Amino acid sequence: MGKLPTIGRKTAQRLAFHMLKTPEEEAEALARAIVELRRKIRLCRDCFNLAEEELCPVCSDPRRDRTLLCVVEEPTNLISIERTSAYRGLYHVLGGALSPLKDVGPERLRLRELMERVQRERFCEVILATNPNVEGEATAVYVSRLLKPLGLQTTRLAQGLPAGGDLEFLDELTLRRALEGRREY
Ligand code: ZN
Repeated sequence: MGKLPTIGRKTAQRLAFHMLKTPEEEAEALARAIVELRRKIRLCRDCFNLAEEELCPVCSDPRRDRTLLCVVEEPTNLISIERTSAYRGLYHVLGGALSPLKDVGPERLRLRELMERVQRERFCEVILATNPNVEGEATAVYVSRLLKPLGLQTTRLAQGLPAGGDLEFLDELTLRRALEGRREY
């Protein structure tokens, strides 16, 4: 359990004690659910969000605004933005942020896929919604430079977000305001 993200030693211990008190059938059902999840989940063909089909629920929804593209680091950030209900466009999940310390260079992110997509589709605006920390800012700058020659409008979430933070941990109202107050980048 300690190998799972955000599960520290204490939480792992609590889970272990809980499992000890759980009937064996229930534990087996949980194990089966995890295996099933691993088998079913894949990445969306277009945006790399988590999906059960070829396209994720956002990409396959005909009511989404296909002229807006929001670039995020991870599917968890996409989920945070979806929770605000303030955004009706599409997404592109980069799969991380540029980080020299963690040895993540541009080739490790889905930038080629992003470029192919913006050239193929008709987006009017690309919103850079990478996290408000050093890596997220560096990534936003890098992506905006790639997009510049295409003459696409590029915007960034409004400033005033807690610096060094992760969109995942922002409350809905703050994130909604940042999205609505986005500005030219
Ligand atoms: Zn998708």
